[in-house]
Amino acid sequence: MAEARAAEVDIVYLDYNATAPLRPEALDATLAALNSVGNASSMHHLGRDAAARVDAARRQLAGLLNCSTGEIIFTSGATEANNLALRAAYARSGALVTTAVEHPAILETARAVTEGEPDSLVLLPVDGDGAVDLEPLDGIFRERQVALVSVMLANNETGVLTDLTPIVKAAHEAGALVHTDATQYVGRLPVDLDVLDVDLLSLSAHKFGGPQGVGALFLRRGTSLPHRPLLVGGGHERGWRAGTLNVAGIAGLGAAAEAAGLKLQSESARVSDLRNALEVGLTARVPGCRINGAGAPRLPGVTSITFPGMPADAVLAAMPYVAASDGSACSSGAPTPSHVLLAMGRTRDDADSTVRFSLGYDTTRRDIERGVDAAAEAVAQVRSVLAATAEP
Ligand code: PMP
Repeated sequence: MAEARAAEVDIVYLDYNATAPLRPEALDATLAALNSVGNASSMHHLGRDAAARVDAARRQLAGLLNCSTGEIIFTSGATEANNLALRAAYARSGALVTTAVEHPAILETARAVTEGEPDSLVLLPVDGDGAVDLEPLDGIFRERQVALVSVMLANNETGVLTDLTPIVKAAHEAGALVHTDATQYVGRLPVDLDVLDVDLLSLSAHKFGGPQGVGALFLRRGTSLPHRPLLVGGGHERGWRAGTLNVAGIAGLGAAAEAAGLKLQSESARVSDLRNALEVGLTARVPGCRINGAGAPRLPGVTSITFPGMPADAVLAAMPYVAASDGSACSSGAPTPSHVLLAMGRTRDDADSTVRFSLGYDTTRRDIERGVDAAAEAVAQVRSVLAATAEP
C-alpha cells in the first residue's frame, strides 16, 4: 500500500477482498457530497444538485458494467442486493439453485427464503479447485421448475472464477432467471452485461475503492421479477428500495467505478503479476504450502494459501504488520471452518491453516516483498513454538 496512507505503522495491506482502501477520486466525490445540503428527492435547486450527483454516479456505474442507468438500484451493499434479488425471485414459482461456495449473503438468504421447504433449495457442488460442477444442472432443470439460479462470478476466499455462459443459456432455456453475486469481480475484471446476459447482478462499492455501506443491484429491463422490495416507503429507486438516497456514498461509488474502469486491463495484469510473485516467493520460502484453486481461472489479486499444520490465526498474529485474512473476513469471529474450503474437499485442519492474501490497485512490489518476508517468518515462528510445546 502507498507508504503515505499507511505511514503511521507502515502496514502492508493485503486484504482487498475484505475491503479496498478508498480511492482518492471516491474520497473527493464523497466529501463534496457530504459538504453540500440537499435531498435528492427535493425539487429546489439544492435537491437537484444532489440528484445530479446520483445521476452522475448512475452513469459512471452503468459505464463500468455496460448497462443502462435505469437498470441500477442503489442499495446499502451487496448483502442487501443479494437479499433483494433472492427474495423477489423466490416469489416466482420454483426452486432456488445456487452453489456450495457462495458468500453467506447468498447462502443464508437462500436458506431463509426457502425455510421449511428444503426441496426448494439446490446447492451445486464444486471440484477440488473450487470450480462449480455444472453436471447436475440439466437434471435439475428436467426434474423441477427453477425460479432463479444464482452463481457468483468470483469467489471471495479463493478468487476462483465461474464462466456463467453455459449456466445462463441452460437457465434461460428452462425459464429460470439468473443472478450473479459479482461483488469481488466488479472493478477487478471487465464486466459487459450485454455479453454476460444475466438478469440480476449484485455489487458493493467498497470492494473496488468506493465507500463502505453502499452498493447496487442491476435488474435487467424487462425482467419479469415480482415486485418485492425489502424496504417500502417513499418509492425511491423506482419503488425497489425506499429511503432517502445515500448521496455521498453513491457519489463515491460512482467515482470509484469510473476510476476502476479507466485502467481495468493494465491494472488486472499488474496485480496478477504481483499475486504470482507472492505465490512464487511464499512457495519457495515455505515448503509444503499449497495454493487453493491454483488449477482454476482466478481473480488477478487473490491467493488462498494453506500452511499445513500452522493455525492461520497464529500465523496472522505473528505478522501483525501485514493485514491479511484467515478465510473470509465476513465470517471471521465465527469459529467454523471455511465452508468454501470444505466444499473443495479440504480437511478442517487445512481450512483452519489457510490464509487469504488479496491485492489491489494500491499494492506495490515492495508490499509483496515485505508480505513474503513477514509471512515466511511468521510461519517459521509458529512452527518453532509448536515444536517447542509438542509432547516429547
Ligand atoms: N458477496 C461477496 C462475494 C462478498 O465478498 C461480500 C463481502 N465480503 C458480500 C457479498 C457482502 O458485501 P457487503 O458486506 O458489502 O454487503
